[in-house]
Amino acid sequence: MIRHGLAIILLTLISQLGGIAWLVAIVLRPVARFWTVFVLAYLGLSVGAHYVAPGFGRVPLPCLDAGPTQIAVLNPVYCALNRNYVDPALKSHADALAAQMHDDFPGTRTRALDAGFPFVEGFPLLPHLSHDDGQKLDLALYYTDQDGTYQLGRARSPIGYWAFEQPPANAATLCDADGGFGLRWDMDWAQSYMRPWPLDEDRTAAALAWLANNPTGTDYAVFVEPHLAERLGVNADVIRFQGCQAARHDDHIHLQFQP
Ligand SMILES: [Zn+2]
Repeated sequence: MIRHGLAIILLTLISQLGGIAWLVAIVLRPVARFWTVFVLAYLGLSVGAHYVAPGFGRVPLPCLDAGPTQIAVLNPVYCALNRNYVDPALKSHADALAAQMHDDFPGTRTRALDAGFPFVEGFPLLPHLSHDDGQKLDLALYYTDQDGTYQLGRARSPIGYWAFEQPPANAATLCDADGGFGLRWDMDWAQSYMRPWPLDEDRTAAALAWLANNPTGTDYAVFVEPHLAERLGVNADVIRFQGCQAARHDDHIHLQFQP
């Protein structure tokens, strides 16, 4: 019983709908195989969410490449876990960024990381405490390989996160090294597993500048580490430091606004 409770909590935290599928599988256990029911229920709920969530104000971002003028998730795992839902206005804004990037750098693809779950206001998308209303979206940085060739829709890390751009040695220390309690993980152990690609500074700077110059809605904000914004030469009021309790933002860009 405890095992089932833990499974339901964990699945709900990472995918929102997984816990319900587990519950369905428990209920139907007398008449059907547990894992078959779980997989079918999870697939049914996840596919169903694509059609039902828009009625509740959240639309899914494409799970696979959808052409240069639409943002899509970097890795289909975000869709598999139902973490690709946003307010329609946020999707439009991200699509406009993707289209502009393709105009400026033909063939470029703009990719999303964690967005939000399909349902329920105030349900956080862990570990991002603020991604709880469909109005927050993380964007992948752009990269080249060591020869300077743009990597289409790919990032240093397969999921986009945790391949940090390290601050220059003379950068101001913003947060205590030990960090205390919080989500500012340095993930030092993981750095050597990341692809050794340099940041595509031209594309990433262009994307950051477009986001800075095209605010929309209210409370518009773009979170990125100050050393990265400085390196890319983009400076604007809407570009902010997220604080020391939140995750590092030199492996991705966080975008948010109220439509
Ligand atoms: Zn975020």
